[in-house]
Amino acid sequence: MKQLQGKTALITGASRGIGKAIALKLADQGANIVFSHLSSAEQGKEVTQELEKRNVEVLAYHADVASFNKSQELIETVIQKFKQIDILVNNAGISRDNLLLRMSEQDWDDVMQVNLKSVFNLTKAVTPVMIRQRSGSIINISSVVGIKGNIGQANYAASKAGIIGITKSVALELGSRNVRCNAIAPGFIETAMTEKLSKEAKEEWIKNIPIRRVGTPEDVANCALFLASDSSSYITGQVIQVDGGMVT
Ligand code: NAD
Repeated sequence: MKQLQGKTALITGASRGIGKAIALKLADQGANIVFSHLSSAEQGKEVTQELEKRNVEVLAYHADVASFNKSQELIETVIQKFKQIDILVNNAGISRDNLLLRMSEQDWDDVMQVNLKSVFNLTKAVTPVMIRQRSGSIINISSVVGIKGNIGQANYAASKAGIIGITKSVALELGSRNVRCNAIAPGFIETAMTEKLSKEAKEEWIKNIPIRRVGTPEDVANCALFLASDSSSYITGQVIQVDGGMVT
């Protein structure tokens, strides 16, 4: 029996990278998948086809989850089609790195809107649904940078630390309704977000990772599957680092 058979999972920003790996992993375990993306229709179609090969129902939704109204519409659409939402993975995120001295107001606002406000938007919209169901698992993708800070990432670190704050608060508010909320804090994961780094910078990072390799999107997806499934039914309000021991 697959772990997520008959469940519905909504994953934001799943057209590539970590979000896509999570969508595939949850589909492998039988979950029907709704994913939002901001990418081209072509990219959305490719992911849809990969998911459908796993014999699950799939809905791709083109939406900017930084928009409060679009997020509400997204949840309404999922409910119309699937009648339930068991798992929400708030994964969509961007970075606009610069030293604080040079960081523009726009770069601060954009990162806060996409990384943090989207978590508020979707979590708020899904809360009445999960309370009604008396079950649900919300998984927020934070970052070790939200725990430790990072040079050139004041905006990103603040947004990811904010995600930890909302995760713990939601866990406290909804635990009695059997709705859980946890965060994953990935370390250095090889995706489009990190490919801008030079080979030298990457080697420097690896020296500081006890496991001596960068992470893969699948490393994060494995943790998301655990938090989505009943194997973690007594775990809420936690931040799980998937970082090869980089921040300990
Ligand atoms: P990525 O750039 O490959 O993917 C980001 C996804 O988010 C894309 O699908 C993109 O279309 C989507 N997206 C961006 N803005 C959006 C918006 N406004 N509305 C809807 N979708 C939007 O990056 P990734 O590395 O796969 O990152 C996924 C998440 O993991 C992000 O939240 C990121 O901050 C976090 N993270 C990544 C790393 C890493 O090393 N790659 C480390 C820690 C945390």
